[in-house]
Amino acid sequence: MNAEIDNLDFISSPQVVENYKFLDEIGVFRHIERLNKELLDCSNLLSGAVDIFNKISVTEILDAAVWRISDRFLPSFITFLWKPHQNRSDVIIKSYKNYKPVEINLPIQTIAPFVPFFTRFPKPVAYEIFEFQENNLDPVLLSGLKALDPELLIPIMGPFGLYGVVIIGRKMISKGYTPEELFFLEQLMSFLSQAVQNNLHYEHSVRDVKTGLYNHGYFLTRLSEEIARTKREEAVSSLLVMDVDKFKIFNDTYGHLAGDRVLETLAHSIKQSLRIGDIPSRFGGEEFTILLINTPRQVAWTVAERLRMSVAAMKVPWETPLPQVTISLGLVSFDSSMDTNADEIISRADEALYQSKENGRNRTSVWGSGLLFRIQRSRQDQNDPGISAVQNLQGVS
Ligand code: GH3
Ligand code: MG
Ligand code: MG
Repeated sequence: MNAEIDNLDFISSPQVVENYKFLDEIGVFRHIERLNKELLDCSNLLSGAVDIFNKISVTEILDAAVWRISDRFLPSFITFLWKPHQNRSDVIIKSYKNYKPVEINLPIQTIAPFVPFFTRFPKPVAYEIFEFQENNLDPVLLSGLKALDPELLIPIMGPFGLYGVVIIGRKMISKGYTPEELFFLEQLMSFLSQAVQNNLHYEHSVRDVKTGLYNHGYFLTRLSEEIARTKREEAVSSLLVMDVDKFKIFNDTYGHLAGDRVLETLAHSIKQSLRIGDIPSRFGGEEFTILLINTPRQVAWTVAERLRMSVAAMKVPWETPLPQVTISLGLVSFDSSMDTNADEIISRADEALYQSKENGRNRTSVWGSGLLFRIQRSRQDQNDPGISAVQNLQGVS
């Protein structure tokens, strides 16, 4: 910074003191005060942007924005309405009261009621103006909105138009929002919008569209990372691969669309079976994997068998009754003692899966499990009759 500006001695210089009254009259000090406020706003915006862009999930992004808005304005409510998919119309609603998420009952299925207004006027607007202009809104929706004590509506605009709206409640301490405050909120929301779009793009790049599980590329990256980590930290992790049994016949008999529904329902069962940290993916076609972090073989076996049984009991919603589908699984564990890589681990899991197919399908096989593992399992199974039944039925390859 310029040394002359840095040095504030001029404030107490005799000329300034002499002309203080004049400078005050012509508004110099008020102007300086305004500039200082703008500077503070800019600095808050900048730190808000850094904060928001550093978050890795939409929930965290919203939480960060709520914190920034609440800290500055203390509104009664903050509510986000959100369209998570570009080509679907469903809406996510998240509301916060005093910084904390609260359940609300807003009768709205899409953001469509807001689209005409914000297409014409894509700016923050006082709620009253919106209500006055949109006088055809459903009265049930209006009373739902009213319950949120709305003062401001801020559109969240993306490259394809409106995809969200933030409803900001009345300030709890002072009244109304000044033009500078509106500008601040508008800018903050544009950062939020950008951060969410980045997040959605990232999610699309790592997810399989049909099932919502991670895709093959993401799985390979995480597997390599996990192998390196188990070596570094002397940990043990496991990989499950699974494949739908006789799926070609199923498709040929019931059609590809029914087959797709099976894969979606199966993905749902996989998600239900997950523990924190597990990484599920669609390996390709009708094959799936789950990377079980910090999970030894015996625990992974239990996870695999629970999943296998839940799939065997799974109901697939379809127009006509469908037969039960089953999956075969292969399991391999790896730890710091193994000098191996991702390809090798996958091919071991595949070998185990192949054994499950060879031995009659609808079962789990463990790679490299010799006599010792069988003895360990049968000891454990004596205390666990549920698994024991499976063990007797399926055997461990
Ligand atoms: P196996 O028990 O030996 O695994 O028999 P299979 O019939 O499942 O094995 P195969 O590899 O011969 O057939 C896999 C089938 O999976 C063929 C293909 O049509 C089907 N499939 C792969 N991806 C999809 C998909 O996205 N949707 C549907 N509906 N079917 C798929
Ligand atoms: Mg297959
Ligand atoms: Mg198959």
